[in-house]
Amino acid sequence: MQLIDKIDSFSSCRDRAAYIYREETLYYRDLKEKSDALANYIISSFENDKTPIIVFGHKQSMMLICFIACVKSGHPYIPVDSSMSQERIKDILENSKSKLILSINDTDYVDFSDKVIMNVHDIENIIKKFNGQKLDRNFMVCGDETFYIIYTSGSTGKPKGVAVTASNLESFVKWGLSISRLEDKNVFMNQAPFSFDLSVMGTYISLASGSTIYSIDKDMIENLKELFYYFKCSGVTNWVSTPSFMELCLASEKFNRELLPNLRQALFCGESLPKDCVRTLKERFKDITVTNSYGPTEATVAVTSIDITDEMLEKQDDLPVGNVKKDCRIIIEDENRSILEECKKGEIVIAGSSVSKGYYRNEKMTDKNFFETNENGVLRRGYRTGDKGYLKNGILYYCGRMDFQIKLNGFRIELEDIENNLRKLDSVKNAVAVPVYKNDKIFYIASFVVLNDRTCDKSFKQVLKIKKELKKYIPEYMIPRKILIKDFLPMNANGKIDRKLLMEEI
Ligand code: AMP
Repeated sequence: MQLIDKIDSFSSCRDRAAYIYREETLYYRDLKEKSDALANYIISSFENDKTPIIVFGHKQSMMLICFIACVKSGHPYIPVDSSMSQERIKDILENSKSKLILSINDTDYVDFSDKVIMNVHDIENIIKKFNGQKLDRNFMVCGDETFYIIYTSGSTGKPKGVAVTASNLESFVKWGLSISRLEDKNVFMNQAPFSFDLSVMGTYISLASGSTIYSIDKDMIENLKELFYYFKCSGVTNWVSTPSFMELCLASEKFNRELLPNLRQALFCGESLPKDCVRTLKERFKDITVTNSYGPTEATVAVTSIDITDEMLEKQDDLPVGNVKKDCRIIIEDENRSILEECKKGEIVIAGSSVSKGYYRNEKMTDKNFFETNENGVLRRGYRTGDKGYLKNGILYYCGRMDFQIKLNGFRIELEDIENNLRKLDSVKNAVAVPVYKNDKIFYIASFVVLNDRTCDKSFKQVLKIKKELKKYIPEYMIPRKILIKDFLPMNANGKIDRKLLMEEI
C-alpha cells in the first residue's frame, strides 16, 4: 500500500489524532478530507503542471494538510520555515521556480512578486469550497517522482534542494517502522522544524503507523517552563530529536519519568551521540530504548541504526551509528575511491534505495556527489557523503567530516556558506568562519573579517551592523556569535588561510 493511502486509511478510526500542536488537534479524518479538498483545487488550477509548491510556516497543523495536498495533486512540496531569511527564500524561489506558495505564516516581509500566494484564510475557503469532492488518486506523486524538496546549506553561499522521491520515502518509512518501539498507542515528539529532514523521521513513521505527532515549536524550546508544561500533558511515547536537544532537556532535573511517564524510546539522528547523554537518559528513564541513527538529507533521513547497550557505553570506542538498512549498502572509500577493508577509516559512501535523485535543478553539484552503480543488472543510486567513518563487524562508526560542514545545535551548516554571504556585504573584503569547541562539542561559530575600508572603526557597533546585514542573507542559527575584525587573515605554508591559527586565537 502506498504511504498516502496508508495514512488516509486511518481516517476511518473516529477521533484518532494525527497531529497535536499547542491547543490544535488535527484528526486523521480531517487530514484526509482537507488535503483531498485542497488537492482538488490545485489539480483544477494547475492541471498539467508539476512544479514544486512552497509551504511556508512553522509548526501549524495546516502545514501537514498542505504537504499531503501537494503530493495528492502530483506536486512535490518544499517546506520553508518562517525563521528563514528573505534572501534564502528568494534563492529557493529562484531555484525551484515554484508558482504557488501556501503561506501559513504572514509573508508581508517576503517578496514573492509574481507568484500565486494563498494565505490561511484563502486555504480555508478553498477547503470549504472543494469539501467532499472525490479525489482522482492517479495524480498522486509516486515511484521515482519527487515527494519533497528540502533545502540545506550550500558551500557556494546558495542553498541546495535535495529531491527525495516517493520510493525513497516509502523505503525509509518501512525501515523506520521496524526500528521503532510501537505499541497500540504511540505519541511521537517532533522537535525539528519541517524544513529539516529530521522532522520527516517523526512525521512519517508516526503517520504510517496511525500514531499521533506531538509537535513543539521554537518559542517552547527557548522557554523550558513552557516546554515542560506541554510535555506534561503530551503522553509522548517515542522521542525523535538531535542529541543537542535532549541534552538541553536533561540539563534540568525536572526532565524525568514523572514528566514523561510513557516514554519508551528515544531515537536520535543528525549529530554524534555523547555517551553521557545516554547514561543520564537511561538513569532517569529505566527500561528506555536509546537508538542512534545516521544519515544525510541526501539519503532520506537515516540509513543506519542501532540500540545502544550498556556494553557499548563501557567500551573505549565512540558509540556506533549502526547497521545499514537492508536495501542500502555502506562502502568506505579512500581518496582514490578504492574500497577499504573493515576497520580502515575513509569516506562513507551510501548506495541503494534511500539515495535521493540529487539536488533539484543543480546538475553540477549532483554530478559531484551522486553517482549510479550497476548491481547485478539493477541500476542503483549512490551518494558520497563527505563524512569520515569505518565499519567494524558490519557496524558503522562516524568519525567527523572531510570538509567545512558542521553541526551546531543539530543544524547543518557549511562554514563556506557563512563566508560567502559575509563577503556579499559592502563593508566586508574577506571573511573566515570557524567553529569554537567546548568539551569536544561545537559551542558556537566565530568569524574573522577584513573590512574594505581598513580605517573604518572596529567597534562593537560595527560588529552589530555586520550581524544585522548578514541576517538578510542567512538564517539566524548561522549568524556567528563572535565577529572579530582583523587587518589581514594569516596564511599557512600552503598559501591557504590559516584556520587553525585563527581557531587558537579564540
Ligand atoms: P542532515 O542532512 O542535516 O541530516 O545532516 C547530515 C549530516 O549529519 C551527516 O552527513 C553527518 O555529518 C551528520 N550526522 C547525521 N547523523 C549522525 C550521527 N548519528 N552521528 C554523527 N553525525 C551524524
